[in-house]
Amino acid sequence: MTQQASISGLILAGGRGTRMGQVDKGLQPFRGKTMAAHVLERLAPQVAQVAINANQNPDTYAALGVPVWPDDLAGFAGPLAGMETGMRRCRTEFLLTAPCDSPFLPRDLAARLLAALRAQDADLAFAVTQEPGQRPQPHPVFCLVKAALLPILSRYLAEGGRRMDGWYKDLKAVEVLFEDADAFRNINTLDELHSLDTTRAPRLADVTSCLSAYDPDALPVRDAQRIIRDFVQPVQAVEQVALRVALGRVLARDIVSPINVPAHDNSAMDGYALRGADLPADGQVRLNVIGTVYAGKPMDVAPQAGECVRIMTGGVMPAGCDSVIPQEFVAEEGQESIVIAAGVLKAGDNRRFAGEDLKAGSAALKAGKVIRPADLGLVASLGIAEVPVRRRLRVAFFSTGDELRSIGQALDEGSVYDSNRYTIYGMLQRLGCDIIDMGIVRDDPAALEEALRSACENADAIITSGGVSVGAADYTKQIMARLGDVTFWKIGMRPGRPLAFGRVASNGHSAFLFGLPGNPVAVMVSFYFFAREALLRMMGADAPLPLLRARSAGAIRKKPGRTEYQRGILSAGEDGVPQVRITGSQGSGILRSMSEANCMVVLHDGQGNVSAGDLVDVLMFEGLV
Ligand code: AMP
Ligand code: MG
Repeated sequence: MTQQASISGLILAGGRGTRMGQVDKGLQPFRGKTMAAHVLERLAPQVAQVAINANQNPDTYAALGVPVWPDDLAGFAGPLAGMETGMRRCRTEFLLTAPCDSPFLPRDLAARLLAALRAQDADLAFAVTQEPGQRPQPHPVFCLVKAALLPILSRYLAEGGRRMDGWYKDLKAVEVLFEDADAFRNINTLDELHSLDTTRAPRLADVTSCLSAYDPDALPVRDAQRIIRDFVQPVQAVEQVALRVALGRVLARDIVSPINVPAHDNSAMDGYALRGADLPADGQVRLNVIGTVYAGKPMDVAPQAGECVRIMTGGVMPAGCDSVIPQEFVAEEGQESIVIAAGVLKAGDNRRFAGEDLKAGSAALKAGKVIRPADLGLVASLGIAEVPVRRRLRVAFFSTGDELRSIGQALDEGSVYDSNRYTIYGMLQRLGCDIIDMGIVRDDPAALEEALRSACENADAIITSGGVSVGAADYTKQIMARLGDVTFWKIGMRPGRPLAFGRVASNGHSAFLFGLPGNPVAVMVSFYFFAREALLRMMGADAPLPLLRARSAGAIRKKPGRTEYQRGILSAGEDGVPQVRITGSQGSGILRSMSEANCMVVLHDGQGNVSAGDLVDVLMFEGLV
């Protein structure tokens, strides 16, 4: 790396940060400092001086110790406006621009662009990268330009031109190929920022080291669940959606009630509102009815001693009244009066207090809740039309195996239809994920790598099935391991012993990986007991598995030492208490018994044989989000 005396560096931080939710991109914290500070640190050693082009927060940028130059052109006209300002103000022959969200920019950017520009006697040079088998990807914002070309750029801008690669059509531009595409990775959303910020993300080794005895080849279910729980990170992006659209989504922030619910003291019954002091200790009392209050039609009356008001359910309590007697408890004397006997009502009965459901300023719903129909109603009762929810989780999935065929293909000898992609589809759909079905991937290293990379680049999580068991071709594991921080477990459970878990990365994107076993039942069991809770956590929800207790209808043989999952049918026993019976064959490939079942019986690792009548843990399928 050499410092180029003829070049001034300009960090482009003049945007509005629209995609970051209006935050100033360059000032976002990333690995312990602001993004602009990272860019400055990389750029400063390469050039004579650095300035920052920013249109907001000038003082904060100036604190980095470099000049801050706002656009000369008004109205956030994009990176070219920053470049124009830079070319006008810099005192060197060349200007080098780099965006404020590129913390990994190459350390030899200036040297290589300048060498190419000089070698070809060009007007400007910019970076390109190329992935194997793909077209070159230009990065026109990483640009070295002769400052003397300012008039040409100004003319282009004055004519309304805004395209970074539009203004130099008639100039000589050279592309300079850089090897490392990741170096040009810019960070457009807060989500990307957080997913790249590995100081926030633990490493698997850090998480597993918290366990007192960690043996990946004999891992108890509970430990695997805990490692997964500690390792995954929720997506950060929040979107504001119309109330109904929020059904099934995860609430991103508490909903604070702006009002008391109910807003006024009101009646819980159709009857008569009265003063508790008028109730007779013995005998009976006659009260005069001085008016009627309907729900939604409050009446400005204040009954005196010996008076009452006819009131409907939800009607606002008249001043001075603290009790409502249901109409069936009184003897009505025409419209004028009622007679109440002693002992039928206590003072204070049937009155709902203002704020009884919810006090103004209190949290009506807590962040992290998966929004259900009752929550829609609750939010509506507060008069709130839109709610903040986490963005949907994107999950890519594929099946591995040369023996697999898709529906519609012929089933040649030895092949089977791919059913896992359908069960996984169903389970992800129920969770409310955005899904990317990547089909069947052959047992071939290149195909597998390509699939994993593409999944990484497009999704937050990846679910694969097959290829992680002992007998499977070894390269599945090798490739998963090569692309990231992945561990391979043998879990003390049946069905579904093998499981791959971790985080894989490609081109600066990363995704959590769940490599589930291939057997159709094992895939579902592993999904429900490992992936489901992790995915919900990534969605921002805290939703542990809802296990119930039920009586076992028959004896179940069970060896202590591993967790067993049996397919069961839960029903009401003769005495109405829930009881569960195991469905027929429990082979790990037999989907039919899964389909017949309505629950899984969970026999924990410490547990031995179960006798008829013993209580066991059960996970119901219905209602399982
Ligand atoms: P594997 O873990 O790849 O050795 O697969 C274990 C068993 O599950 C084999 O019998 C596979 O044929 C079967 N299997 C794997 N993937 C699928 C799938 N997507 N659909 C149905 N069966 C599968
Ligand atoms: Mg296989």
